[in-house]
Amino acid sequence: MSKQKRFFLSEDEIPTKWYNIQADMVNKPMPPINPKTKQPLKPEDLFTIFAQELSKQELDQTNPWIEIPEEVREMYKYYRSTPLVRAYGLEKALDTPAHIYFKNESVSPVGSHKLNSALAQAYYCKKEGVTNVTTETGAGQWGAALSYAAKVFGLEAAVYQVKISYNQKPYRRSIMQTYGAQVTPSPSMSTRAGKDILTANPNCQGSLGTAISEAIELAMNTPNCKYTLGSVLSHVTLHQTVIGLEAEKQMAMAGEYPDMVIACFGGGSNFGGIAFPFLRHNILEGKTTRFIAAEPASCPKLTKGVFQYDFGDEAGYTPLLPMFTLGHNFMPANIHAGGLRYHGAGVIVSQLLKDKLMEAVDIQQLESFKAGILFSQAEGIIPAPESCHAIAATINEALKCKESGEEKVILFNLSGHGLIDMTAYDQYLSGSLQNFEVSDEDIQKNIAQLEKVI
Ligand SMILES: *Cc1c(COP(=O)(O)O)cnc(C)c1O
Repeated sequence: MSKQKRFFLSEDEIPTKWYNIQADMVNKPMPPINPKTKQPLKPEDLFTIFAQELSKQELDQTNPWIEIPEEVREMYKYYRSTPLVRAYGLEKALDTPAHIYFKNESVSPVGSHKLNSALAQAYYCKKEGVTNVTTETGAGQWGAALSYAAKVFGLEAAVYQVKISYNQKPYRRSIMQTYGAQVTPSPSMSTRAGKDILTANPNCQGSLGTAISEAIELAMNTPNCKYTLGSVLSHVTLHQTVIGLEAEKQMAMAGEYPDMVIACFGGGSNFGGIAFPFLRHNILEGKTTRFIAAEPASCPKLTKGVFQYDFGDEAGYTPLLPMFTLGHNFMPANIHAGGLRYHGAGVIVSQLLKDKLMEAVDIQQLESFKAGILFSQAEGIIPAPESCHAIAATINEALKCKESGEEKVILFNLSGHGLIDMTAYDQYLSGSLQNFEVSDEDIQKNIAQLEKVI
């Protein structure tokens, strides 16, 4: 008997609202703090940097459902729904009784989930009369998404790309330039934040934290220009809930409900995007699904970081955020999963982890590529190095099911494909990649340097 492998929604069934989990959380995230006044942030405090509508979404703890603007939904229809796929090939390769499903966000035009928020952010900027947007990008997925979204809504985009990725992944730069964006490797001499870092350390390979500082500085110094961010912030994760809301309907079509939802973790947007719509049933109806974030062992903010107020960027331009952090001055090792090289976690996820409503695991670089290659051979899709972390965590859980004989249902998010990351696969296959681990001692040392704010 032939079994259905992929589940799709019609255009009419694409969600019309995003899900704002803050409204349903019993313990709300603590407020971001204005570092100058030490007062809780109001939406107005964010208006100089972000579009107003996005600033309001960021701090909204009352409305569980936020209407997706018609213009954004029309753009979603070009690539959504993304398929929910039953990973029969992977199940067979692992000889596991677990039912494994993945939501394939790699089919978006830019190859990752990032476009879901880029379109929304560009739309709100355009609507409010903005002409230019700036941003940072690590591996280049967010930069690519924003570059395209800016073009769609008629905005100019300037992107600071972390230098290590700019050099490791030249095709991502070309992609951004093809969409019409201006791309600068960060740290650069074009901003004060970049200059400070380069004079102290001329060989600095950059980090997302530094690139964020540069992009914010440019936005603050340019008229009619707003800054946009591809992860970490609550409004970004809000837009990504379109993933989980679709998956919820698609899992129902498959006649199943997940026992576990797994995603890789950079700042939390693809994790929150797939997890929060399901987590709402844990909160409201007492379901017992497990939610597992898979982070790199070289940047382990969830498994080894501390929960405290910290800046979102290297230079300290952002509000202070209550989050699990390795310290905003943390310089992660140069792993290939560039999208996961960030020192902190979003405020919603941080609160959820603190309240034990979710779990986190850390994955070594070599283990992540081993998982990515097994998945490639079993399912034919070459995953992004970031997504390989989710796959590794999924494999670990599926193998536990094999041991216990349990037929658990596992859903993971395939956040992107790896076709522009083949240098990384090359290096893995030739044996020249290595693991990087941070010791608790290194982290403690780094955290100790932070000013205790609260
Ligand atoms: C950016 C990115 C990530 C990490 O960011 P999150 O906000 O944690 O989702 C993961 N996978 C891919 C493919 C990415 O582009």
